[in-house]
Amino acid sequence: MAQRIGIDVGGTNVKIALVSDKGKIIYSNSIPTRAEMGYEYTINSMKDAIRDLLKETKMKASDIEGIGFGFPGQIDCKKGVVRLAPNIPGWVNVPIASIMEKEFGIPTRVDNDVRTAALGELNYGAGVGCENLVCITVGTGIGSGLVINGKLVRGADNAAGEIGHIKLNMQGGPLCGCGDRGCLEAYASGPSIVAMAEEYIRGGKSTKFREMANGNPITPYIVCEAAKAGDPVAQRIFNIMGEYIGIGMASVVNLLNPERIIVGGGVADAGDLLLNPLKETLHKRAMKIAGSAVEVVPAQLGNTAGVIGASLLIES
Ligand SMILES: [Zn+2]
Repeated sequence: MAQRIGIDVGGTNVKIALVSDKGKIIYSNSIPTRAEMGYEYTINSMKDAIRDLLKETKMKASDIEGIGFGFPGQIDCKKGVVRLAPNIPGWVNVPIASIMEKEFGIPTRVDNDVRTAALGELNYGAGVGCENLVCITVGTGIGSGLVINGKLVRGADNAAGEIGHIKLNMQGGPLCGCGDRGCLEAYASGPSIVAMAEEYIRGGKSTKFREMANGNPITPYIVCEAAKAGDPVAQRIFNIMGEYIGIGMASVVNLLNPERIIVGGGVADAGDLLLNPLKETLHKRAMKIAGSAVEVVPAQLGNTAGVIGASLLIES
């Protein structure tokens, strides 16, 4: 049975797994990223973690078909280089694939982490059976992995899928992390939930999340818990988030005509609080044929989508 290693690199932790060719996780481990120590430190910890994996599963490097990395940032997939990872300082033009191939002699691939999550969901999660799907991750920003005709879409320079930067406002709007204004993720993501909640508090609105935060900074999680506990202001915030994302997705659906939109990421843990207004707006605003063909579903693999998807890079 062919087995591969999938590695999901995040700003805080690196998840490492041995994954079977049926998408089953046979072994998994997590190590701290410690980006502040420099990228060489993280690379050495990852090498140690791969050696531990081989030792503990009693496998030799020659038994492993491939290693795949999912990285939060801009990747050159052809060369296997991490160009820039904004949340992991120090990772600029790091040739991670050749470094690992030299160390272990195992073919290694790298891609963006939202794309690896899409690959995981497509093969073993909420996207099974789909030919055309959009897998969005709503968290600090909004990213996506696109699958068209069963294949991941990377674009001319590996930059496809930036759904968070669909423009919703021609006149300006809130400033986005990309430097432009009026992008979808500047209206609807974790930080905008917090900004909206703080605005309600400043306006003197009495809310459950204000009590729940108890003087501590408001987080999307607190607003979500307040909404689940029936707080109307918190529910309104998620409604507005869902509407914005629904409007953005209407454009995506008109453009690509996918069968399914899979919604994952930290903010998506709010479930129907986010998905119901999203679906309603999408179906109201998308064109009829494409709008009727699409189904909006929650992601299924949770935080294992990254390692499972990364393990599949070797064949995609
Ligand atoms: Zn933007």
